[in-house]
Amino acid sequence: YAARPWLRAYPEEVSPTLTIEDVALYDFLRQSAERYGDATATVFYGARLSYRQLYEQARRVAGGLINLGVKKGDRVAIMLPNCPQAVIAYYGALMAGAVVVQVNPLYMPRELKHQVGDSGARVMIAIDLAYPKVSQLALEQVIYTGLQDYMPAPVRWIAPLKLKPPRIAYRKGVMPWSALVAAPPITAPVPVTPAEDLALLQYTGATTGLPKGCMLTHRNLVANVMQTEAWLYRAKRGPELVTLAALPFFHVYGMTTLMNFTIRMGGTMVLQPKFEPREALKLIQRYRPSIFPGAPTMYVGINHLPDVQRYRLDSIEACISGAAPLPVEVQTTFERLTGGRLVEGYGLTEASPVTHANPIWGRRKEGSIGLPWPETECRIVDPETGEDVPVGEVGELLIRGPQVMKGYWNQPEATAEALRDGWLHTGDMARMDEEGYFYIADRKKDLIIAGGFNIYPREVEEVLYLHRGIKEAAVVGVPHEYRGETVKAYIVPREGYTLDPAEIMEFCRQHLAAYKIPRIIEFREELPKSIVGKVLRRVLLEEEQGRKEVG
Ligand code: AMP
Repeated sequence: YAARPWLRAYPEEVSPTLTIEDVALYDFLRQSAERYGDATATVFYGARLSYRQLYEQARRVAGGLINLGVKKGDRVAIMLPNCPQAVIAYYGALMAGAVVVQVNPLYMPRELKHQVGDSGARVMIAIDLAYPKVSQLALEQVIYTGLQDYMPAPVRWIAPLKLKPPRIAYRKGVMPWSALVAAPPITAPVPVTPAEDLALLQYTGATTGLPKGCMLTHRNLVANVMQTEAWLYRAKRGPELVTLAALPFFHVYGMTTLMNFTIRMGGTMVLQPKFEPREALKLIQRYRPSIFPGAPTMYVGINHLPDVQRYRLDSIEACISGAAPLPVEVQTTFERLTGGRLVEGYGLTEASPVTHANPIWGRRKEGSIGLPWPETECRIVDPETGEDVPVGEVGELLIRGPQVMKGYWNQPEATAEALRDGWLHTGDMARMDEEGYFYIADRKKDLIIAGGFNIYPREVEEVLYLHRGIKEAAVVGVPHEYRGETVKAYIVPREGYTLDPAEIMEFCRQHLAAYKIPRIIEFREELPKSIVGKVLRRVLLEEEQGRKEVG
């Protein structure tokens, strides 16, 4: 216990040790297809795909990608909301030996260019709705698919998305999904060495500079799925398990705790391409999922629907909320409405992502991120000296475990900074109590978390600086009732310019995903700066704080 004091608090049913299977991630799909071939893997607007169908289509995608010249280790970008193709493309690319690069469909060309260029992806499987943006990228091959490709016609009981698919000019280098899945299925996947070979390059924002690609191996992802399984030890297996897949799979949290976990268990995932609280309630009532991992805003959205009581939600057994702090009131209201358990967890992209959670059926603590997951070791150190701090004191949280990334893609310096002697330096300040429960005291400097999405102020500022009328800009996160935080920009106009907030927001919209756009704009004559001229965001935040107290 001396080295791992939190073991004392472990729920009896969960073993702190776990043997991580030495398999490729795609083996989970093969196993479930063998065991539960006829069972439903995905439900999408009422249309079902069985494990046998899913596995066959993934092998076709693998074959199609290999025909296109994709070789082991090549990066294949996937830019899809939750839909059957997102699962098929992901497993297909892995079976072809490729490294998946998940791309957020809300990204704008500037963000896309960085991610495609940095990862070196030459092939992308994209949602047709993103055609205007994707067609601007330097890719050798793009495969487009639309939600309608897997929707039953007519869609009766749920309102289809109100967007009209664009007309795509198919030519050399641009092909439809139907052509990709027309390839004969491969008989055996490209073999991989799970501990060495990458399965995923997952981009994560940086406090300084542009997003970096976290290199996650097959073993990293297999480990985090098995850790999820150990934590959700009461979850059913096979057709009896139903999960609500509202978190996007392009985010590492939804990818692991929903897509890969459900595939591992042979369960059914109910796909929601875009989270909308009322649709989620309808899906829960209709398909009776027991597991629904989410972000705090999703539970807030559900809790706040005035007629939420009208829905039957008692199938819900276990929910893990991550990505941002979970307010206690949100937790208790949601639990009262569903009768299930909602616990807070914590993770980061560099750790595939989950490292901590409160026990679902055991003892949990308010405001705590819970206990480290099986096989996950933690330290809390003084960031200056690197020495462990005494129990109860705040320091930087360090993590070691099988889910910790191999490093950052093409960034040896950043890797050496983040990984020292196998310990991941999270950049989050935390403390541990005597019983081994962890608490996040402060988050990575300057990071804004709005509605569960991470926004790095620097990236927004860079866009603001592109505007002719802007002399200086600083971006901070300010508290927001629904989104947790929202983006506020302080702007110093260039001499002779009169700026209009609406126009600036519109300008940002052309360069940034919607969730990153400043919602509040304040004009200033100057910004607080350090002696070396660095804008002091901290001072702005303190002013914001002071204003709240006075007001
Ligand atoms: P990402 O790599 O994009 O998943 O972001 C990871 C970061 O989100 C962490 O380093 C934390 O700063 C923050 N985070 C995740 N979960 C929590 C939580 N439960 N409470 C507070 N911050 C969190």
